Amino acid sequence: MQPLPDALAQAVIPAGVRSLLERLQSAGHESWLVGGGVRDLLRGQHPKDWDIATQALPEEVTRLFRRVVPTGIAHGTVTVLVPEGQVEVTTFRVESAYLDGRRPGAVEFRRDLVEDLARRDFTINALAFDPVGGRFRDPFGGQEDLGRRRVRCVGVAAERFGEDGLRPLRAVRFATVLDFELDPDTEAAIPGALGVFDKVALERRRDEFLKLLLAPGAVRGLVLLRRTGLMDRLLPELAAVDDAERNPRVGRSAPVLEVRLALLLVGVGEAASALDRLRLPGKTAETVRALLVHPLPAEASAWTDGALRRWLVRLGPERSELARALAQATGADPAGTLGERLGRIVAARPPLTPRDLALDGAAIMKALGVGPSPAVGEATRFLLEAVLERPDLNTAEQLEALLRQRARGDKQTR
Ligand code: ATP
Ligand code: MG
Repeated sequence: MQPLPDALAQAVIPAGVRSLLERLQSAGHESWLVGGGVRDLLRGQHPKDWDIATQALPEEVTRLFRRVVPTGIAHGTVTVLVPEGQVEVTTFRVESAYLDGRRPGAVEFRRDLVEDLARRDFTINALAFDPVGGRFRDPFGGQEDLGRRRVRCVGVAAERFGEDGLRPLRAVRFATVLDFELDPDTEAAIPGALGVFDKVALERRRDEFLKLLLAPGAVRGLVLLRRTGLMDRLLPELAAVDDAERNPRVGRSAPVLEVRLALLLVGVGEAASALDRLRLPGKTAETVRALLVHPLPAEASAWTDGALRRWLVRLGPERSELARALAQATGADPAGTLGERLGRIVAARPPLTPRDLALDGAAIMKALGVGPSPAVGEATRFLLEAVLERPDLNTAEQLEALLRQRARGDKQTR
């Protein structure tokens, strides 16, 4: 029996999570808080999500609670909804025979906590706490590793990495997010596991990499990825680029995904293929692409407001804040003065698209005295050019006057 650490004795457990544990326990099923939640409590932080490991089989859990989502029944996981959020409840399990380094060939449910903890990745994640009974289990020295601030595999690192190729990346991610060191044996096992890492689904890699990229200590994470050889496998497009300037920029920038990704990929020849590899949501990828293709350049300080508005149209005006942050981080706009000017321009909500024109398609046809025809498109483009230069011209009367002027001009040149 291990003594209960003070941080756990004083921990505040949300009422919904506690009553879930009580319910399982009073039905006769041994149940514990496990994993990252216990780690966070020990570090004096409030966990973002809660995991429970239990002796109860998934169908037994399902019978006990009303609001249950069968998120991963095959792996013994169901999600129980409590007022404070969701709790993943997983049956104690042992994973046998990893066939391809991606997922266990079979999951065996065992009614034993220590075996469940033994299949977890790192000692700092292999902790269990029962706030109802005031009990704590740490069979692999996780608390000591937390104190020494290190990420160490449960068991032999090379074997554990061989079972699941995502673990090397998770090791680097935890070291980055927690600002811990990699245990030397754990780090030394990474290069030998790169072949298994290659088999891991891109979506699983993405989730870990994005957590790393958004951490305050992202620079260290990028350096660790390079040092361990993971970066070459994760984003080979970045292999040849010099990251001496690149990484610190990422680290100094606001932790906004699109901005940090753009900073990472700026000047990379095959940025598009790197983006594809990250399996980002379409909208995110599109935004990063737009930021890379239409960055706010340093010479924009010498542009007219009209030129800035035309650039805004190319970028997509909803992305202007991101472009500002990016320009500040790349040094295109170190003091943020250009960004401020851009902010004022955007705040004035100038007309930027045909929809913003004071004359709609029908009004333009009427003014031209024509029906639907290419002439309408030409006139629309002409008017948009005019209001991009001079937004104050965007009233129905002034636009009609411009169209009349244009018609006269056309006649004269003919
Ligand atoms: P975070 O705070 O980022 O959510 P976490 O520790 O909760 O960190 P999760 O990815 O949510 O990490 O996983 C929950 C727990 O499940 C981990 O703490 C660990 O015990 C176990 N786990 C997750 N992924 C693996 C894996 N690939 N191999 C072994 N154990 C894992
Ligand atoms: Mg978690």
